[in-house]
Amino acid sequence: MKIIVQKFGGTSVSTQQRREMVADKVIDAIKKGYKPVVVVSAIGRKGDPYATDTLLSLIDNEKAYLEKREYDILMSCGEIISCVVMAEVLSKRGLKPRVLTGGQAGIITNDNFGNADILRIDTTKLINYINEGYVPVVAGFQGMTQSGEITTLGRGGSDITGTALGAALKAEFVEIYTDVDGIMTADPRIVDDAHLIETMSYNEVFQFADQGAKVIHPRAVEYAMKVNIPVYIKNTMSNSKGTLITASRESIGRIITGITHMSSRTQISVEYGEENQYADDVFDILAANKISIDLINVFPNYRVFTVDSKQEENVKKILDELKLKYTVVSNCSKIAVIGNGMRGIPGVMAKILKALKEKNIKVLQTADSHTTIWCLVKEEDTTNAIKALHEAFEL
Ligand code: ADP
Ligand code: MG
Repeated sequence: MKIIVQKFGGTSVSTQQRREMVADKVIDAIKKGYKPVVVVSAIGRKGDPYATDTLLSLIDNEKAYLEKREYDILMSCGEIISCVVMAEVLSKRGLKPRVLTGGQAGIITNDNFGNADILRIDTTKLINYINEGYVPVVAGFQGMTQSGEITTLGRGGSDITGTALGAALKAEFVEIYTDVDGIMTADPRIVDDAHLIETMSYNEVFQFADQGAKVIHPRAVEYAMKVNIPVYIKNTMSNSKGTLITASRESIGRIITGITHMSSRTQISVEYGEENQYADDVFDILAANKISIDLINVFPNYRVFTVDSKQEENVKKILDELKLKYTVVSNCSKIAVIGNGMRGIPGVMAKILKALKEKNIKVLQTADSHTTIWCLVKEEDTTNAIKALHEAFEL
Protein backbone atom coordinates (compact mmCIF):
# COMPACT_ATOMS: atom_id res chain seq x y z
CA MET A 1 0.00 0.00 0.00
CA LYS A 2 1.59 3.29 -1.11
CA ILE A 3 0.69 5.71 1.67
CA ILE A 4 1.69 9.36 1.47
CA VAL A 5 1.11 12.23 3.89
CA GLN A 6 -0.01 15.61 2.55
CA LYS A 7 0.12 18.49 5.04
CA PHE A 8 -1.58 21.78 4.22
CA GLY A 9 -0.73 25.00 6.09
CA GLY A 10 -3.06 27.72 7.31
CA THR A 11 -3.06 29.83 4.17
CA SER A 12 -3.66 26.75 2.01
CA VAL A 13 -7.02 26.11 3.67
CA SER A 14 -7.99 29.75 4.22
CA THR A 15 -10.60 30.19 1.47
CA GLN A 16 -13.08 27.97 -0.36
CA GLN A 17 -11.10 28.46 -3.58
CA ARG A 18 -7.88 27.31 -1.91
CA ARG A 19 -9.59 24.35 -0.26
CA GLU A 20 -10.65 23.26 -3.74
CA MET A 21 -6.97 23.42 -4.73
CA VAL A 22 -6.16 21.26 -1.72
CA ALA A 23 -8.77 18.76 -2.92
CA ASP A 24 -7.09 18.82 -6.37
CA LYS A 25 -3.78 17.80 -4.79
CA VAL A 26 -5.43 14.99 -2.84
CA ILE A 27 -7.34 13.70 -5.88
CA ASP A 28 -4.16 13.89 -8.01
CA ALA A 29 -2.35 11.72 -5.48
CA ILE A 30 -5.16 9.15 -5.51
CA LYS A 31 -5.10 9.09 -9.31
CA LYS A 32 -1.39 8.31 -9.15
CA GLY A 33 -2.15 5.28 -6.99
CA TYR A 34 -1.31 6.72 -3.58
CA LYS A 35 -3.33 6.46 -0.38
CA PRO A 36 -3.14 9.99 1.05
CA VAL A 37 -3.39 10.94 4.69
CA VAL A 38 -4.24 14.64 4.90
CA VAL A 39 -2.99 16.85 7.76
CA VAL A 40 -4.30 20.39 8.11
CA SER A 41 -3.45 23.48 10.12
CA ALA A 42 -5.94 25.94 11.54
CA ILE A 43 -7.64 28.14 8.94
CA GLY A 44 -5.82 31.32 8.00
CA ARG A 45 -3.58 33.68 9.91
CA LYS A 46 -3.87 36.04 12.88
CA GLY A 47 -7.10 37.97 12.54
CA ASP A 48 -8.95 35.17 10.77
CA PRO A 49 -11.74 33.88 13.02
CA TYR A 50 -10.43 30.38 13.75
CA ALA A 51 -6.67 30.94 13.51
CA THR A 52 -4.64 29.89 16.55
CA ASP A 53 -3.74 33.48 17.47
CA THR A 54 -7.38 34.51 17.28
CA LEU A 55 -8.39 31.70 19.62
CA LEU A 56 -5.65 32.74 22.02
CA SER A 57 -6.85 36.34 21.92
CA LEU A 58 -10.13 35.20 23.48
CA ILE A 59 -8.37 34.87 26.80
CA ASP A 60 -5.75 36.96 28.55
CA ASN A 61 -2.50 35.65 27.20
CA GLU A 62 -0.21 37.96 29.16
CA LYS A 63 -1.39 37.27 32.67
CA ALA A 64 -1.94 33.53 32.19
CA TYR A 65 -4.81 32.96 34.62
CA LEU A 66 -5.22 29.48 33.26
CA GLU A 67 -2.83 26.58 33.40
CA LYS A 68 -1.09 25.43 30.23
CA ARG A 69 -3.33 22.39 29.99
CA GLU A 70 -6.35 24.61 29.34
CA TYR A 71 -4.52 26.66 26.71
CA ASP A 72 -3.86 23.46 24.78
CA ILE A 73 -7.52 22.58 24.70
CA LEU A 74 -8.30 26.03 23.31
CA MET A 75 -5.50 25.95 20.75
CA SER A 76 -6.38 22.45 19.54
CA CYS A 77 -9.80 23.66 18.33
CA GLY A 78 -8.50 25.54 15.29
CA GLU A 79 -7.15 22.43 13.57
CA ILE A 80 -10.23 20.39 14.44
CA ILE A 81 -12.52 22.98 12.83
CA SER A 82 -10.24 23.12 9.80
CA CYS A 83 -10.39 19.31 9.41
CA VAL A 84 -14.16 19.24 9.28
CA VAL A 85 -14.35 22.11 6.80
CA MET A 86 -11.75 20.43 4.60
CA ALA A 87 -13.47 17.07 4.90
CA GLU A 88 -16.68 18.58 3.57
CA VAL A 89 -14.87 19.79 0.45
CA LEU A 90 -13.31 16.36 -0.08
CA SER A 91 -16.67 14.72 0.41
CA LYS A 92 -18.32 17.01 -2.16
CA ARG A 93 -15.59 15.99 -4.58
CA GLY A 94 -16.54 12.34 -4.18
CA LEU A 95 -14.01 11.15 -1.60
CA LYS A 96 -14.72 9.44 1.72
CA PRO A 97 -12.98 11.61 4.33
CA ARG A 98 -12.59 10.62 7.99
CA VAL A 99 -11.83 13.45 10.42
CA LEU A 100 -9.51 12.63 13.32
CA THR A 101 -8.10 14.70 16.14
CA GLY A 102 -4.41 14.16 16.84
CA GLY A 103 -5.28 11.84 19.70
CA GLN A 104 -7.76 9.86 17.60
CA ALA A 105 -5.06 9.48 14.95
CA GLY A 106 -2.95 7.72 17.61
CA ILE A 107 -0.45 10.48 18.34
CA ILE A 108 0.65 9.95 21.93
CA THR A 109 2.73 12.70 23.54
CA ASN A 110 4.22 13.56 26.90
CA ASP A 111 2.42 16.14 29.07
CA ASN A 112 4.64 19.09 28.24
CA PHE A 113 1.61 21.23 27.38
CA GLY A 114 2.21 23.81 24.69
CA ASN A 115 5.32 22.09 23.42
CA ALA A 116 4.69 18.38 23.80
CA ASP A 117 6.95 15.70 22.34
CA ILE A 118 5.54 12.74 20.49
CA LEU A 119 6.29 9.54 22.39
CA ARG A 120 4.82 7.11 19.88
CA ILE A 121 2.15 6.85 17.22
CA ASP A 122 -0.34 4.01 17.17
CA THR A 123 -1.28 3.78 13.49
CA THR A 124 -3.84 0.93 13.83
CA LYS A 125 -6.87 3.16 13.46
CA LEU A 126 -5.43 5.15 10.56
CA ILE A 127 -4.43 1.99 8.70
CA ASN A 128 -7.90 0.52 9.23
CA TYR A 129 -9.57 3.62 7.85
CA ILE A 130 -7.24 3.65 4.84
CA ASN A 131 -8.04 -0.02 4.21
CA GLU A 132 -11.74 0.79 4.34
CA GLY A 133 -11.27 3.38 1.59
CA TYR A 134 -11.33 6.49 3.76
CA VAL A 135 -9.08 9.51 3.35
CA PRO A 136 -8.06 10.37 6.93
CA VAL A 137 -8.04 14.12 7.60
CA VAL A 138 -5.95 14.62 10.71
CA ALA A 139 -5.83 17.75 12.88
CA GLY A 140 -2.23 18.95 12.88
CA PHE A 141 -0.28 20.44 15.80
CA GLN A 142 -1.83 18.23 18.46
CA GLY A 143 -1.69 14.93 20.25
CA MET A 144 -2.89 13.30 23.41
CA THR A 145 -1.15 12.03 26.51
CA GLN A 146 -1.35 8.40 27.54
CA SER A 147 -4.11 9.38 29.97
CA GLY A 148 -6.16 11.26 27.36
CA GLU A 149 -5.17 14.89 27.94
CA ILE A 150 -5.11 17.04 24.80
CA THR A 151 -1.67 18.49 24.03
CA THR A 152 -0.17 20.75 21.37
CA LEU A 153 3.22 20.37 19.74
CA GLY A 154 4.41 23.99 19.61
CA ARG A 155 3.74 26.70 17.02
CA GLY A 156 4.21 25.45 13.48
CA GLY A 157 3.64 21.97 14.87
CA SER A 158 1.42 20.73 12.04
CA ASP A 159 4.62 20.14 10.09
CA ILE A 160 5.68 17.80 12.90
CA THR A 161 2.37 15.95 12.66
CA GLY A 162 3.01 15.58 8.93
CA THR A 163 6.47 14.06 9.05
CA ALA A 164 5.92 12.08 12.27
CA LEU A 165 2.83 10.46 10.75
CA GLY A 166 4.76 9.86 7.53
CA ALA A 167 7.49 8.10 9.49
CA ALA A 168 5.06 6.03 11.57
CA LEU A 169 3.01 5.00 8.52
CA LYS A 170 6.17 4.20 6.55
CA ALA A 171 4.85 6.53 3.87
CA GLU A 172 6.50 6.76 0.47
CA PHE A 173 7.04 10.48 1.06
CA VAL A 174 5.60 13.51 2.84
CA GLU A 175 4.39 16.65 1.10
CA ILE A 176 4.29 19.93 3.02
CA TYR A 177 2.08 22.33 1.09
CA THR A 178 2.35 26.04 1.79
CA ASP A 179 2.02 29.45 0.10
CA VAL A 180 5.44 29.58 -1.58
CA ASP A 181 6.96 27.35 -4.27
CA GLY A 182 9.33 25.57 -1.90
CA ILE A 183 12.41 26.49 0.10
CA MET A 184 13.99 29.53 -1.50
CA THR A 185 17.45 31.08 -1.23
CA ALA A 186 15.86 33.69 1.07
CA ASP A 187 12.37 34.49 2.33
CA PRO A 188 10.59 35.57 -0.89
CA ARG A 189 8.74 38.20 1.16
CA ILE A 190 12.10 39.88 1.76
CA VAL A 191 14.07 39.20 -1.41
CA ASP A 192 12.04 39.55 -4.60
CA ASP A 193 14.40 37.50 -6.73
CA ALA A 194 14.95 34.69 -4.24
CA HIS A 195 14.80 31.44 -6.14
CA LEU A 196 13.72 27.91 -5.50
CA ILE A 197 16.24 25.40 -4.16
CA GLU A 198 15.28 22.16 -5.87
CA THR A 199 17.10 19.69 -3.64
CA MET A 200 18.43 19.99 -0.13
CA SER A 201 19.76 17.67 2.54
CA TYR A 202 17.96 17.21 5.86
CA ASN A 203 20.88 18.90 7.57
CA GLU A 204 20.71 21.99 5.44
CA VAL A 205 16.97 22.30 5.85
CA PHE A 206 17.31 21.82 9.58
CA GLN A 207 19.80 24.71 9.68
CA PHE A 208 17.41 26.86 7.68
CA ALA A 209 14.45 26.02 9.88
CA ASP A 210 16.37 26.27 13.12
CA GLN A 211 17.70 29.71 12.16
CA GLY A 212 14.32 31.21 11.46
CA ALA A 213 13.08 30.18 7.99
CA LYS A 214 9.48 29.51 8.89
CA VAL A 215 8.81 27.30 5.92
CA ILE A 216 9.15 24.03 7.89
CA HIS A 217 9.44 23.30 11.62
CA PRO A 218 12.93 22.10 12.62
CA ARG A 219 11.54 19.18 14.60
CA ALA A 220 9.59 18.06 11.54
CA VAL A 221 12.89 17.78 9.71
CA GLU A 222 14.31 15.64 12.53
CA TYR A 223 11.43 13.15 12.36
CA ALA A 224 11.90 12.75 8.61
CA MET A 225 15.67 12.46 8.89
CA LYS A 226 15.47 9.70 11.50
CA VAL A 227 13.75 7.32 9.09
CA ASN A 228 15.11 8.82 5.89
CA ILE A 229 11.72 9.64 4.41
CA PRO A 230 11.74 12.09 1.47
CA VAL A 231 9.93 15.37 2.12
CA TYR A 232 8.69 17.76 -0.55
CA ILE A 233 7.88 21.40 0.18
CA LYS A 234 5.36 22.55 -2.42
CA ASN A 235 2.92 25.31 -3.23
CA THR A 236 -0.80 24.52 -2.93
CA MET A 237 -1.53 27.30 -5.39
CA SER A 238 0.84 26.25 -8.17
CA ASN A 239 2.27 23.17 -9.81
CA SER A 240 5.88 23.95 -8.98
CA LYS A 241 8.16 20.96 -8.49
CA GLY A 242 8.94 22.20 -5.03
CA THR A 243 11.98 21.39 -2.91
CA LEU A 244 12.91 17.75 -2.38
CA ILE A 245 14.59 17.06 0.94
CA THR A 246 16.59 13.85 1.33
CA ALA A 247 19.78 12.65 2.99
CA SER A 248 21.86 13.31 -0.13
CA ARG A 249 24.59 15.90 -0.15
CA GLU A 250 23.38 17.90 -3.11
CA SER A 251 25.20 20.99 -1.98
CA ILE A 252 28.23 20.17 -4.11
CA GLY A 253 29.06 23.14 -6.26
CA ARG A 254 27.36 25.74 -4.12
CA ILE A 255 29.12 27.45 -1.28
CA ILE A 256 26.10 29.22 0.13
CA THR A 257 22.66 27.64 -0.01
CA GLY A 258 20.67 30.53 1.34
CA ILE A 259 20.12 33.21 3.93
CA THR A 260 17.66 33.38 6.77
CA HIS A 261 17.24 35.40 9.93
CA MET A 262 15.82 35.59 13.41
CA SER A 263 14.55 38.92 14.65
CA SER A 264 13.77 40.05 18.20
CA ARG A 265 17.21 39.37 19.58
CA THR A 266 18.89 41.38 22.33
CA GLN A 267 22.65 41.60 22.66
CA ILE A 268 24.09 41.74 26.16
CA SER A 269 27.71 42.42 27.12
CA VAL A 270 28.72 41.69 30.69
CA GLU A 271 31.84 43.26 32.12
CA TYR A 272 34.32 41.01 33.69
CA GLY A 273 36.73 41.89 36.44
CA GLU A 274 37.61 41.62 40.09
CA GLU A 275 34.80 43.85 41.29
CA ASN A 276 32.37 41.67 39.31
CA GLN A 277 32.78 38.60 41.41
CA TYR A 278 29.72 36.81 40.01
CA ALA A 279 30.59 37.29 36.35
CA ASP A 280 31.92 33.74 36.25
CA ASP A 281 28.53 32.38 37.16
CA VAL A 282 26.47 34.31 34.61
CA PHE A 283 26.01 31.47 32.16
CA ASP A 284 25.15 28.98 34.90
CA ILE A 285 22.64 31.32 36.47
CA LEU A 286 20.95 32.09 33.15
CA ALA A 287 20.76 28.38 32.40
CA ALA A 288 19.25 27.70 35.79
CA ASN A 289 16.59 30.28 34.92
CA LYS A 290 15.93 28.43 31.65
CA ILE A 291 17.09 31.41 29.59
CA SER A 292 18.77 30.19 26.46
CA ILE A 293 21.57 32.29 25.06
CA ASP A 294 23.51 32.18 21.84
CA LEU A 295 26.19 33.97 19.83
CA ILE A 296 28.41 33.62 22.87
CA ASN A 297 31.81 35.31 22.69
CA VAL A 298 34.17 35.26 25.65
CA PHE A 299 36.90 37.88 25.99
CA PRO A 300 39.32 38.55 28.88
CA ASN A 301 37.38 41.63 30.03
CA TYR A 302 33.83 40.91 29.01
CA ARG A 303 31.47 38.37 27.55
CA VAL A 304 28.83 38.93 24.91
CA PHE A 305 25.75 36.90 24.12
CA THR A 306 22.25 37.30 22.75
CA VAL A 307 18.85 36.32 24.11
CA ASP A 308 15.33 36.38 22.79
CA SER A 309 14.03 39.93 23.31
CA LYS A 310 11.18 38.51 25.39
CA GLN A 311 13.83 37.55 27.97
CA GLU A 312 15.52 40.96 28.02
CA GLU A 313 13.83 42.20 31.18
CA ASN A 314 14.41 38.90 32.97
CA VAL A 315 18.08 38.92 32.13
CA LYS A 316 18.50 42.53 33.26
CA LYS A 317 16.86 41.67 36.56
CA ILE A 318 19.21 38.76 37.10
CA LEU A 319 22.29 40.82 36.22
CA ASP A 320 21.13 43.66 38.48
CA GLU A 321 20.68 41.24 41.36
CA LEU A 322 24.24 40.04 40.80
CA LYS A 323 25.34 43.71 40.72
CA LEU A 324 27.09 43.19 37.40
CA LYS A 325 28.00 45.96 34.97
CA TYR A 326 26.54 45.35 31.55
CA THR A 327 25.32 46.99 28.37
CA VAL A 328 22.29 46.08 26.31
CA VAL A 329 21.55 46.49 22.60
CA SER A 330 17.84 45.84 22.01
CA ASN A 331 16.06 45.12 18.73
CA CYS A 332 18.68 43.11 16.93
CA SER A 333 18.37 40.57 14.19
CA LYS A 334 20.54 37.52 13.69
CA ILE A 335 21.28 36.90 10.02
CA ALA A 336 22.39 33.35 9.16
CA VAL A 337 24.26 32.62 5.96
CA ILE A 338 23.91 28.87 5.47
CA GLY A 339 25.73 26.41 3.27
CA ASN A 340 27.26 22.97 3.70
CA GLY A 341 29.66 23.98 0.93
CA MET A 342 31.39 26.71 2.96
CA ARG A 343 33.31 24.09 4.95
CA GLY A 344 36.99 24.83 4.43
CA ILE A 345 36.40 27.59 1.86
CA PRO A 346 38.40 30.68 2.81
CA GLY A 347 37.09 34.20 2.51
CA VAL A 348 33.39 33.66 3.11
CA MET A 349 33.34 35.75 6.28
CA ALA A 350 35.39 38.48 4.59
CA LYS A 351 32.92 38.59 1.72
CA ILE A 352 29.99 38.88 4.10
CA LEU A 353 31.56 41.73 6.04
CA LYS A 354 32.50 43.57 2.86
CA ALA A 355 28.98 43.26 1.43
CA LEU A 356 27.44 44.61 4.64
CA LYS A 357 29.97 47.42 4.94
CA GLU A 358 29.24 48.56 1.39
CA LYS A 359 25.62 49.09 2.46
CA ASN A 360 26.67 50.86 5.66
CA ILE A 361 25.26 48.10 7.81
CA LYS A 362 26.91 47.86 11.19
CA VAL A 363 27.80 44.34 12.29
CA LEU A 364 27.40 44.01 16.06
CA GLN A 365 28.77 40.50 16.40
CA THR A 366 29.60 37.42 14.33
CA ALA A 367 29.92 33.70 14.89
CA ASP A 368 30.53 30.77 12.63
CA SER A 369 30.31 27.01 12.37
CA HIS A 370 31.20 24.65 9.52
CA THR A 371 27.91 25.31 7.81
CA THR A 372 26.67 28.70 9.00
CA ILE A 373 27.95 32.22 9.52
CA TRP A 374 25.90 34.48 11.75
CA CYS A 375 25.93 38.27 11.81
CA LEU A 376 24.07 40.29 14.38
CA VAL A 377 22.72 43.57 13.01
CA LYS A 378 20.15 46.11 14.14
CA GLU A 379 16.63 44.95 13.37
CA GLU A 380 16.00 47.88 11.02
CA ASP A 381 18.90 46.66 8.84
CA THR A 382 17.50 43.13 8.43
CA THR A 383 16.01 43.48 4.97
CA ASN A 384 18.96 45.40 3.54
CA ALA A 385 21.44 42.97 5.04
CA ILE A 386 19.68 39.93 3.58
CA LYS A 387 19.37 41.60 0.19
CA ALA A 388 23.03 42.63 0.21
CA LEU A 389 24.21 39.12 1.06
CA HIS A 390 21.85 37.52 -1.44
CA GLU A 391 23.38 39.73 -4.09
CA ALA A 392 26.98 39.30 -2.96
CA PHE A 393 26.77 35.50 -3.20
CA GLU A 394 24.82 35.67 -6.45
CA LEU A 395 22.10 33.38 -5.12
P1 ADP B 1 2.19 27.43 6.57
O1 ADP B 1 1.05 28.16 7.17
O2 ADP B 1 1.87 26.84 5.23
O3 ADP B 1 2.83 26.47 7.49
P2 ADP B 1 4.35 29.29 7.08
O4 ADP B 1 3.98 30.73 7.13
O5 ADP B 1 4.58 28.57 8.36
O6 ADP B 1 3.27 28.54 6.18
O7 ADP B 1 5.65 29.11 6.19
C1 ADP B 1 5.70 29.62 4.89
C2 ADP B 1 6.38 30.97 4.85
O8 ADP B 1 7.76 30.81 5.19
C3 ADP B 1 6.42 31.64 3.50
O9 ADP B 1 5.25 32.37 3.26
C4 ADP B 1 7.68 32.51 3.58
O10 ADP B 1 7.37 33.87 3.79
C5 ADP B 1 8.41 31.99 4.80
N1 ADP B 1 9.83 31.73 4.53
C6 ADP B 1 10.86 32.15 5.29
N2 ADP B 1 12.02 31.80 4.78
C7 ADP B 1 11.76 31.10 3.65
C8 ADP B 1 12.57 30.46 2.68
N3 ADP B 1 13.90 30.45 2.75
N4 ADP B 1 11.94 29.83 1.66
C9 ADP B 1 10.61 29.83 1.56
N5 ADP B 1 9.79 30.42 2.45
C10 ADP B 1 10.35 31.05 3.49
MG1 MG C 1 4.21 26.64 9.08
